[in-house]
Amino acid sequence: MTPTRTLGVAALTGCLACGPAACGDGQDGGAEGRVQVVATSYPLQYVAEQVGGDLVAVTNLTPPGGDSHGLELSPRAIATLGEADVVVHLSGGLQASVDDVVAQEEPEHLVDAAPLADRGVDPHFWLDPARLAELADEVADEYSAVDPDHAADYEARAERLRSSLRELDEEYTEALAPCRGATLLASHEAFGYLADRYGLEQVGVAGLDPHVEVSPARLRQVADEVRDTGARTLFFEAAAGLGVAETLAAELDLGTDVLHPIERVAQDDTYPELMTANLAALERGLVCGG
Ligand SMILES: [Zn+2]
Repeated sequence: MTPTRTLGVAALTGCLACGPAACGDGQDGGAEGRVQVVATSYPLQYVAEQVGGDLVAVTNLTPPGGDSHGLELSPRAIATLGEADVVVHLSGGLQASVDDVVAQEEPEHLVDAAPLADRGVDPHFWLDPARLAELADEVADEYSAVDPDHAADYEARAERLRSSLRELDEEYTEALAPCRGATLLASHEAFGYLADRYGLEQVGVAGLDPHVEVSPARLRQVADEVRDTGARTLFFEAAAGLGVAETLAAELDLGTDVLHPIERVAQDDTYPELMTANLAALERGLVCGG
């Protein structure tokens, strides 16, 4: 609970997310002296790293390729969280067991993204880049509280991140302007914030939590909506596969394309790359005017 960590522990925790090979090469000189940050999912890690640069060591408790829904923490991950200088988390149920651990550990410097996720039980706020941008300043403020000597660096980096996310938002706005009102048919109902921002109507086959099975009644309902709206593409998450949605796509003669919820993120993928790929998929697959 209190930050009694030693340099040895700090160096260890910085290596939690990488394999022994990556830890042993010593190329970054270890994590000593850097602000120790724990993020609980990839989009939060992205902001934490962009704002902190080399001044911070970020550990993501959702491993690369891991599913952020319903994450359970190992004792070691709980210890890492307890020793962090700054914790960046999204409370409110995406990771209920992590909510409990954070509440127990009471980190002194906690950024909770929950106010940005205000669509009821839908956690996927990062798919609206304008919302994600709002996290940058809060992260910079907590870093500055821990490491006041570098406050100006954190502020400048936060501003850079905000402006790059603003640019991405403008690209989306422009590209999707002819698509206002179009139906976004998604296998995982993760795109509510994106749909709200750019004037699309989301129809989700599975609900907000991709682990809940889709009922035959829900499938019939979706089939009706597809017929009514003339949607022609079913967007699915590559990592999850098509699953039950495949039957639906075949039955309704829908095309399929990948739309990434940016939750299970491979090591070499980044938020801007995935968002750009998502925009290209939407432009291909939505039924737009003009
Ligand atoms: Zn999700």
